[in-house]
Amino acid sequence: MDEPVEEVKWSRNSVEVDTASRGRHRARCAIITLPLGVLREDTVRFTPPLPRRKQVAIHDLGCGKVVKVFVRVDSFREGVRYALSNCAVPVWWPRQVGRHSVLVGWASGQSADRLSDELPVDVKCRAAQSVGAIFPRLLPVRFDDIHVVDWFTEEFSRGGYSYTPTGCDGDARRTDLAAPEGGTLLFAGEATDRVYYSTVTGAARSGRRAAQEALGILRLT
Ligand SMILES: Cc1cc2nc3c(=O)[nH]c(=O)nc-3n(C[C@H](O)[C@H](O)[C@H](O)COP(=O)(O)OP(=O)(O)OC[C@H]3O[C@@H](n4cnc5c(N)ncnc54)[C@H](O)[C@@H]3O)c2cc1C
Repeated sequence: MDEPVEEVKWSRNSVEVDTASRGRHRARCAIITLPLGVLREDTVRFTPPLPRRKQVAIHDLGCGKVVKVFVRVDSFREGVRYALSNCAVPVWWPRQVGRHSVLVGWASGQSADRLSDELPVDVKCRAAQSVGAIFPRLLPVRFDDIHVVDWFTEEFSRGGYSYTPTGCDGDARRTDLAAPEGGTLLFAGEATDRVYYSTVTGAARSGRRAAQEALGILRLT
């Protein structure tokens, strides 16, 4: 479609998808692959609303934050392949990008929750402090050489990966999330896979499953 979907109107035998530039697409069925975080934000309107079991699944499953930081440095000769720390950005590894050395920082879980609440400029400060604490030789780090990607604030992601919060019946909720609705809407995406959720493997498996479901519907039509 190449543009954001704004509304999905569905009934028993057809679906109509409206996009941002007033594009309209009609089909017998649709595979919804929106990330869990986007489904939760309600930025894509479903008319009629998704059934209650689907909404419960969307809200009960966890949507993990990930903040990734890229720091360009003059050269990286620390002989470290992977650093794990208790700094604000706790995990770092080096990459060579063309002729540039780049340190990649990773924060997930509570570290990402904390960073995601901060202003971008403060996240850059924390990243520079983390690099300085782990690799003091690399100081000073220039702010212009720091790039931050917060997957939670990305409009089309709204999170990094799904997880099963304590006390949540993950298998049941993922089954509900994956369930077809009205013989029209099919659901794929990592959060719908009961085994390999949070991963590309889970996303790919769910895509194959939903494609089979779509073929089943089209054969019967
Ligand atoms: C930083 C990071 C690193 C990761 N590393 C790994 C790894 O090493 N190995 C691994 O297995 N997994 C990894 N994962 C997880 C993996 O990337 C995901 O599980 C997988 O990509 C999810 O695929 P998906 O198809 O479910 O969702 P996505 O790949 O998020 O696809 C959803 C699509 O929906 C689109 N979309 C959203 N809103 C709209 C809208 N309104 N209209 C139209 N389209 C919309 C998005 O643009 C996107 O293209 C990582 C995740 C992150 C965030």
